[in-house]
Amino acid sequence: MSKSDKLRDNLYQRMHGFKTVKRGYVKKGQSEWYYIDPRYDDDDRRGQIDVINENSPNPQLSGILADDMDKNPENYYIWRTKGDDKVRSTHAAREGLIFNKHIPPEGGNPGEDYNCRCWAEPYEPEKYKNKQMLVDLGGLDMFKDLQNEMKPVDFNLNGLPQYSENDKAGIATDATYGLTQNMSDNELLNLMAHNLLATEKMKNYIYLDKFGHITSGVGALLDDEKAFKSVPWMIGDRLATEKEIDDAYQMFTFKRFEKNENGEFKNHNRLAESFENECNLRVPEAYMVQRMMTHLKEDLTRAKRKRTDFDTYPVPLKLIILDFYYNKGSFYNQPGLPQALNARDAKLFQEKMIRHMADRDKWTQEQFSLIPKKFWKSY
Ligand SMILES: [Zn+2]
Repeated sequence: MSKSDKLRDNLYQRMHGFKTVKRGYVKKGQSEWYYIDPRYDDDDRRGQIDVINENSPNPQLSGILADDMDKNPENYYIWRTKGDDKVRSTHAAREGLIFNKHIPPEGGNPGEDYNCRCWAEPYEPEKYKNKQMLVDLGGLDMFKDLQNEMKPVDFNLNGLPQYSENDKAGIATDATYGLTQNMSDNELLNLMAHNLLATEKMKNYIYLDKFGHITSGVGALLDDEKAFKSVPWMIGDRLATEKEIDDAYQMFTFKRFEKNENGEFKNHNRLAESFENECNLRVPEAYMVQRMMTHLKEDLTRAKRKRTDFDTYPVPLKLIILDFYYNKGSFYNQPGLPQALNARDAKLFQEKMIRHMADRDKWTQEQFSLIPKKFWKSY
């Protein structure tokens, strides 16, 4: 990036409330540093947000950002990658996130880094109306500092756009990392639920997973007859009768064990979608979400009981651990994984993580890349 580009970006960031401005003349009660609040363009009310020092985060950032994206969409773009395995992991983690072209992340905007084949898709606000979005402001120094120092910041997440186009996990990147440090249990559970809903398509029909387990909703197992029959199954807009529920259970139990002429299970390893029309029982969405939340709450309790320092972990790591609980029943039973965490060995952790969570590779990798390097002893 040329020097003039840098100056231009710097100026842009100051004028748009993303970077602190130094006061030439400090009146009593004023701070030396402030943010311009561009939401007020009338001169009398020209917004100035005082902060303690040059690197203090802007406490009004979420509102300013939302307003700016609305008024100046041409400054924003969606990071797109080729999606193949040649994409470097740092860029793969940016796929689908929204960036501001004047706040480039490390290595620059798409296509600027050495050999980068990524491109910038124009951001169209109409397309994202009523959708949660996540904007990565990783190019802002204040976020870099936050990440390095791992300083807890009191920040209001409300109103910060969260991104989830293409059902992609709307996960905080290093930009919002600082914001999520002080996350309450409830916020963590909501974020996890959001991720599960985004990455695991809500299947309201019954299917067999690749091991032949009877499944529905967001990954909940229903092999157990009691569990299966406790679901308030619907057919169209009425409740299914006891007989219909029993028939469905018998049918799926049969399919579970059905073998072909070679003695192989006939219905394992089928695409979940291929079961959709074989049975008309459906789970009400509210029930699925409620069940998922109950499940996640229990997971969190167990994770905390097992590890007294759980609360001190970076949020992406907490999410990985919860994901293991949710999808594999536990985190601490995964061979080698807790040991790698104890040793704070990033490489080993990543290796074991991938081995045990191959089917959610992309999501866990993404979370992993968001754990601050500082957390690890060896990287
Ligand atoms: Zn790239």
